[in-house]
Amino acid sequence: MGHLPRASGGDKRPALDWVEVPSPAVPVVAETDVVVAGGGSAGLAAAVAAARDGARTMLVERYGSLGGMATGGLVILLLTMDDGAGNQMVGGLCQQVVDRMAARGSTFYPPREEWAEPDEALVERYRRWGLVWGRGPHAVRYNVAYDPEEFRYVANELLREADVRPLLHTWVAEPVLSADQVTHLVCQNKAGREAIACKIVIDCTGDGDVFAAAGEEYEHSDCVPWLWFRMGGVAEPDKAINAAEGKFFPTLGGRFFRTPGAGRTLMPWGASDSVKRRIDATDPDELTWAELECRRLVMREVDRLREVPGFGRAYINDIAWQLGIYESRRLLGQHQLTREEEGTIFPDTVARTGNWTKYGAVYNIPLRSLLPQRVRNLLVAGRCISVDARVHHATKEIPPCMATGEAAGTAAALALQTGKSLSDIDVAELQRRLRERGAILP
Ligand SMILES: Cc1cc2nc3c(=O)[nH]c(=O)nc-3n(C[C@H](O)[C@H](O)[C@H](O)COP(=O)(O)OP(=O)(O)OC[C@H]3O[C@@H](n4cnc5c(N)ncnc54)[C@H](O)[C@@H]3O)c2cc1C
Repeated sequence: MGHLPRASGGDKRPALDWVEVPSPAVPVVAETDVVVAGGGSAGLAAAVAAARDGARTMLVERYGSLGGMATGGLVILLLTMDDGAGNQMVGGLCQQVVDRMAARGSTFYPPREEWAEPDEALVERYRRWGLVWGRGPHAVRYNVAYDPEEFRYVANELLREADVRPLLHTWVAEPVLSADQVTHLVCQNKAGREAIACKIVIDCTGDGDVFAAAGEEYEHSDCVPWLWFRMGGVAEPDKAINAAEGKFFPTLGGRFFRTPGAGRTLMPWGASDSVKRRIDATDPDELTWAELECRRLVMREVDRLREVPGFGRAYINDIAWQLGIYESRRLLGQHQLTREEEGTIFPDTVARTGNWTKYGAVYNIPLRSLLPQRVRNLLVAGRCISVDARVHHATKEIPPCMATGEAAGTAAALALQTGKSLSDIDVAELQRRLRERGAILP
């Protein structure tokens, strides 16, 4: 049994020297069935699904809040829950979150009878809210705008009801392996370094921190950093948005959006016209540069907005406190889902998704895209699953991240109940359970 070398380092961060750490032994502070690393949308779904099926489940999150990009990143648009032709593609826990937020009046989305409607006025109505993207001819899509505080609240409630044990303010540092099994996750928090003994780990860190540290193979893409923000106190938001887009993006449009809350607008394009540099989102120096540069540019954009009619008395509602990172590591798992496999139905399909910028494009995600090649008790869900760069464009979105999270959590509980390894579980039973809970499978 031993610790593996950290995934970071290498050419980009050459070591100046090496220092022996006096005591590599860390206290084991908890023992559980399933540990979910990362409490974003995928981690939330994974933890709730595993716990609902009876697995003792812990969720470890480095920040003090759940939701990841879906709350802290202010990416408050669920794109997409449909295939662009009026058929729902993602249901299950993602739909439950929508239903709970909608019951509290904190969402905006088209009713089912409007899905796939090509009516121009309707399309324009939803485009204003950031719910129509890509190339036309357009139709209304089942996409959802929501309030991040409500998402956070619903997430907390779901965890509490399912009896998940959350551990916030805690970084997952590295797995401890014995042969091809993770035995513990070593974490770092204010109490120091501590370990959690576990039977199955689900890596939902977005960046694949666990599978990288476990020595699994992966691909890596750099990405342009974003920082979304919201303006409050906007007078007549529709007119103000038109004026701002006319001033900043005269030929483009569709860059600023309505968002739940009177007088609020969502500004996803903050700083985008200026940040051109791609960063490695696993390099702390590059993250630091991006964080500071994006914040500087957001303020520059806010100052420019104040000169636009409607924004004169507006104020910064909030700036995302989490940098907008859409890509870094992607697992090279038992199956890499490729663009050529669009529409292919696999016998082990456990989640599916439409494509937010395309109409009629559907990907069916096999369980093997959530399974690494070597470590036998590790699952991966969310934006770092095993897909190529083109498929990632679709699978990184919040609804599919929740769908793969739910599939991973359900698979983990099934493996534990039946005493089988993750690669050998009864896939038909897994699919039956997922369908029973509202997941949409072919
Ligand atoms: C600018 C931008 C715009 C986007 N627009 C949309 C959109 O409009 N609609 C849409 O549906 N999707 C959109 N996406 C994609 C989507 O937001 C993300 O891909 C998705 O939310 C990822 O979910 P996740 O749970 O896999 O990862 P994340 O949301 O990144 O969650 C990972 C969680 O793990 C935690 N974590 C990470 N490492 C560790 C560690 N070592 N230890 C403990 N915790 C850790 C993080 O703090 C975080 O809470 C956008 C993304 C970006 C960046």
